[in-house]
Amino acid sequence: MEQIYQQYLLSRKVTTDSRNCPPGSIYFSLKGERFDGNEFALEALSKGCEMAVVDDVRLKNEKGCIWVSDALEALQSLARHHRQASGVKVIGITGSNGKTTTKELMAQVLSRKYKVWFTQGNLNNHIGVPLTLLSMPEATEMVVLEMGANHQGEIARLCEIGRPDFGLITNVGKAHIEGFGSFEGIKIGKGELYRFLKREGRPVFINRENAHLKEMLGTGFEDAFQYGTGDACDVKGSGARVNPFLSFFWQRKGVSEPFEQQTQLTGIYNLENALAAIAVGIFFGVSDADIHAAIAAYQPANQRSQVVKTGTNKIIMDAYNANPSSMAVALENFRSIPAEKRVVVLGGMKELGIESSAEHQILMDQLKAMAPDLAFLVGPEFKELVPKTKGYFWFESGEALIRHLTSHPVENALVLVKGSRANQLEKALSVL
Ligand code: ATP
Ligand code: MG
Repeated sequence: MEQIYQQYLLSRKVTTDSRNCPPGSIYFSLKGERFDGNEFALEALSKGCEMAVVDDVRLKNEKGCIWVSDALEALQSLARHHRQASGVKVIGITGSNGKTTTKELMAQVLSRKYKVWFTQGNLNNHIGVPLTLLSMPEATEMVVLEMGANHQGEIARLCEIGRPDFGLITNVGKAHIEGFGSFEGIKIGKGELYRFLKREGRPVFINRENAHLKEMLGTGFEDAFQYGTGDACDVKGSGARVNPFLSFFWQRKGVSEPFEQQTQLTGIYNLENALAAIAVGIFFGVSDADIHAAIAAYQPANQRSQVVKTGTNKIIMDAYNANPSSMAVALENFRSIPAEKRVVVLGGMKELGIESSAEHQILMDQLKAMAPDLAFLVGPEFKELVPKTKGYFWFESGEALIRHLTSHPVENALVLVKGSRANQLEKALSVL
């Protein structure tokens, strides 16, 4: 490990992709479902990597190769070692929904006072977390680290790598039920962050009104830094409205004048994400004016909670991921925005296992209660559930939807586009 770390300190570059080999970088041979990174190690060395960490014994004596028993573990150990050696403060974020949005807002707020590094995009898993830590610039003071999981034990493992000094669980909801087994399983899995922080005696930020989180944290709740909508919170939000952007008021405990906060995010559900970022900003001494400006300036560009104007339509673009909890809040939010004509485009939800059919039925009931003017349902999950009434259409895939919209354009409507990456609904933007 020492040899690998010394090389890392020379270039501070690691790669897991033999198509991207910056000079002096270290290549880690990871294994995917369809590939074995060891097979590309020599190519990576010839393309500019200075060292290749391999776990195939056949490469043991190759020049430039460092053999280890497990290259993924070596990557994780290197990240953990570097994280400790660099002395940065790490804020760990997990939860079922809103991690990326909260992370982005928090990073914007903290950047007003500190040199902040944060998870790029959604690199939040057992590979993304180490890569995040190993790509932080040298002068970094704080890291906002998104930690994702779809089964138990994963967050505990990510905590051992990132060793968060502070932590926050956004919420727990129905996401990745298949891997976690049940809602209880989700609570246990996400709660691994609280267990780590409590064991190490490190501070927690919590949404005071979330009963699940309160129960999961248990003792220690009163010591946590609290945000929410009640008077007892350290940061209190109120008067939230969406039209189509979220605005609200916030104030710190003991301060009588609230700030009026505008955002460029749609979704009433973003209130808790924004309050989380404000809470962290206050905790770390960012001025109220800077917090206010940072939240107002943040513009999502990542298919989450975006409002996009096309020809004659206004699109609520939320096509990055979808699960029962985020679908429910997205529909609820859509319903609350005034509009003459409403069109809903939904993609099927993934990773629901045996609950898939029942959850899609619940979603259909919610959709019917909303009575949209038109509804386009995409993916096999909806096939048997599409209402036989006028205005409902089913498509096997995003491409089929696009073909339909090309010949039957939607005009003068407020359109919700909500689905998972797998549905590729964002492509429909070109024909909406
Ligand atoms: P992933 O598991 O893909 O990393 P994430 O937890 O990072 O997801 P975001 O990418 O921030 O979550 O948001 C994804 C979607 O979840 C949003 O587009 C929105 O529909 C929904 N969402 C965001 N915040 C919340 C929230 N606080 N409560 C419920 N749903 C939310
Ligand atoms: Mg995310």
